[in-house]
Amino acid sequence: MAHNASVKVVKNAYLVDGTGKKPVKDTTIVIKGNLIEDVGKTVDVSSGAEVIDAAGRTVMPGLIDAHVHICFNGDPNLLSVLNYPPGLIQLFGAYNASKTLEAGYTTIRDMGTPFGYALALKKAIEMGIARGPRIVAPGRIISQTGGHADFYLPSGVTYNEMSLISDGPSETRRSARINLRDGVDFLKICTSGGVMSPSDPVDTPQFTVEEIKSVCEEANHVHRSVASHAHGPTGIMNAILGGVKSIEHGSIQTKETVKAMVEHGVFQVPTLTASWNIIQKGTAAGIPDWAVAKAKEIADYPQKSLMLCYKAGVKVAAGTDAGTPFNRHGENAKELELMVAAGLKPIEAITCSTKIGAEACYLGAKTGTLEKGKWADLIVIDGDPTADVMLLQDKAKIRLVMKAGTVEVNRGI
Ligand SMILES: [Zn+2]
Repeated sequence: MAHNASVKVVKNAYLVDGTGKKPVKDTTIVIKGNLIEDVGKTVDVSSGAEVIDAAGRTVMPGLIDAHVHICFNGDPNLLSVLNYPPGLIQLFGAYNASKTLEAGYTTIRDMGTPFGYALALKKAIEMGIARGPRIVAPGRIISQTGGHADFYLPSGVTYNEMSLISDGPSETRRSARINLRDGVDFLKICTSGGVMSPSDPVDTPQFTVEEIKSVCEEANHVHRSVASHAHGPTGIMNAILGGVKSIEHGSIQTKETVKAMVEHGVFQVPTLTASWNIIQKGTAAGIPDWAVAKAKEIADYPQKSLMLCYKAGVKVAAGTDAGTPFNRHGENAKELELMVAAGLKPIEAITCSTKIGAEACYLGAKTGTLEKGKWADLIVIDGDPTADVMLLQDKAKIRLVMKAGTVEVNRGI
């Protein structure tokens, strides 16, 4: 009988469904078109369906990275961007997106690209003219003068193609509107200093609560959310008070900020991989000395903050900050290893990289778990990542990647 092209069946799966529940052996997943039609041990399988036999392998949701910079390559110094023609930066994005998909990631949330290219790349992928994960895109980063996303060099040269530099609530409001006019999925702001910006101490606050509120109000008017880069507690707290729903890095969380995170339902995205790479590779690899010094200054905190958040019930979404020095696209699963090293169980790190990641992208109703009615975003992998998350870093073991019912990668199954 001819295959019913729109129906696929994954059988004999060791199912890790992304909800955090115990894995279930011998599960069948029925996929119709782009959706999961059924999941279970005894489900009806229509004849003529295309069968994918996952015997001896794990089937789990496609991974989600809630914090990447898809157009950056992991160069030691982000100022390398000054040497690249804009068109080349776009092509980097397409290349990196493909790498990310190959690694089993079916959704990513971008946190800033020159010219807001992530939005164009998202559309290209949707149109089928580029290959990559589904992208959730922010437009240009909104930053204050001298803030984390103000690429200002001592010579007076600026590179502000990544950002909209805004001061005062009327400017921040306008910047929000400019991004929203482009149809972005969410807005990204910076409410503290950063590691990869030379002149702002990492834990100092940026933007006033009034400025932050103006951005959040505009986003909320059109049912969008705001994510904020924030390392220190004042920057984190100001962001929460202003209405931000996702704290990026959140390196120095305190009892007070964690309490506020829980009360306001704010996500924590720890990005452990970013500082790990900067500290491991160091100045010898060409990373600017000030960036290495800043990463070392806060080195003791991110793992502790992750566990403080997790234990208090904050929703923690895995994000790598891929694109920062030596933090390469396609190696995103390093974050799970570091989350486990910080104290999470493997299944918890997986849930942070699937279900909670989807929720942070505001796609929780559509992806992140393998449940009836959701997009068929899944990977088939050799071995059991709930016993060893390191398996997820070995692309040869990721035998198949399916995004919305389409097999995007097949390494032989
Ligand atoms: Zn970032």
